Amino acid sequence: MTVMASTARQSGATQPDDAGRLGFGTRFTDHMVTIRWTSAGGWQDPELIDYQHLALDPAAVGLHYGQIVFEGLKAYRQQDGGVALFRPEHNARRINRSSQRLVIPELPERAFLAALHALVAADHAQVPSARGQSLYLRPFIIAVEPTLGVRPAQEYLFVLIASPVGSFFSGGLSPVSVWVSDTFVRAAPGGTGAVKYPGNYAAGFLAQREAAEQGCEQVVWLDAVERRWIEEMGAMNLFFVADGEDGGPTRLLTPRLTGTLLPGVVRDSLLTLAADDGYDVREERLPIEFWQSGWEDGSLREVFASGTAAVVTPVEAMRRGEREWKAPTGTGNPVTLALRERLLDIQYGVTEDVHGWRSPVVLPGV
Ligand SMILES: *Cc1c(COP(=O)(O)O)cnc(C)c1O
Repeated sequence: MTVMASTARQSGATQPDDAGRLGFGTRFTDHMVTIRWTSAGGWQDPELIDYQHLALDPAAVGLHYGQIVFEGLKAYRQQDGGVALFRPEHNARRINRSSQRLVIPELPERAFLAALHALVAADHAQVPSARGQSLYLRPFIIAVEPTLGVRPAQEYLFVLIASPVGSFFSGGLSPVSVWVSDTFVRAAPGGTGAVKYPGNYAAGFLAQREAAEQGCEQVVWLDAVERRWIEEMGAMNLFFVADGEDGGPTRLLTPRLTGTLLPGVVRDSLLTLAADDGYDVREERLPIEFWQSGWEDGSLREVFASGTAAVVTPVEAMRRGEREWKAPTGTGNPVTLALRERLLDIQYGVTEDVHGWRSPVVLPGV
């Protein structure tokens, strides 16, 4: 696939290696980690085993009532040849927040982190090295007790699998077009929008299909109540780069966390890096008219989305109903690209880790 070539070109980084044709999440490494929970014994010791099918009772609660949570993070090949995870404690805390919402027993953070380190150490040879590539880690917890009773299960299974990945979007860093859905909502107040709960994603597929039918690559979600406030793009957080106020520094805005948005690790990291760089960083409720009028009068310079899988992806066009808005042409998205490179430099161990975000993995025999 052509993705990696274009990514490498954009970032001026090294050429992709053999893994340059990696897709997203279609191939998995040799091993996996499982941890069982029983009501009698709590969380058991983690087991590192060969990658294999799960043996689940067909009556497992998770299969019927969706009592499942997941996470997503990456291990990056470092410039010095090592491997490091990026802010994994964040994911350890977030999966527990998801578990609280789904009435799943919380996993001790150190067990979550130990599982990540054990799997990456075992399969470190499968961590790709080109910039833009990484080892995507997918931890999840599923209720496995066999019962059709509608209640939280009495048995759970934590599973960690890993996939060497290239770019998330097949278009690489090329900007995406988005469809603002007035038909569907992703998350309502009091619902599950702030946690990584699989039902949120299956429930978004139809809106994603609607976007595709409108010729757009991604769906943008508005809030469920007023259908006015910008929430997210697909499974990524949204950012807006706007002219400064009264000649002040350029503003970087992102929707405030209201309980219906997913608090992204990349979102948090970009807010920190942008503040370091002197941008006027703001978390606010942003109405869709802000986006529309900003592109009409040119005050909105750049729009991009953030997430672990695709890092940072520029948005170039937005459609809603019969109308279409376009990003100002010729900006080249300098702020988007600079923030992306700043983040990648930290993730790949190129620059100093001033915020302590890298978690190096001790590799066997290295
Ligand atoms: C995972 C996710 C994000 C991005 O979170 P990161 O921690 O930055 O990867 C944003 N929105 C949704 C809905 C998500 O599921």
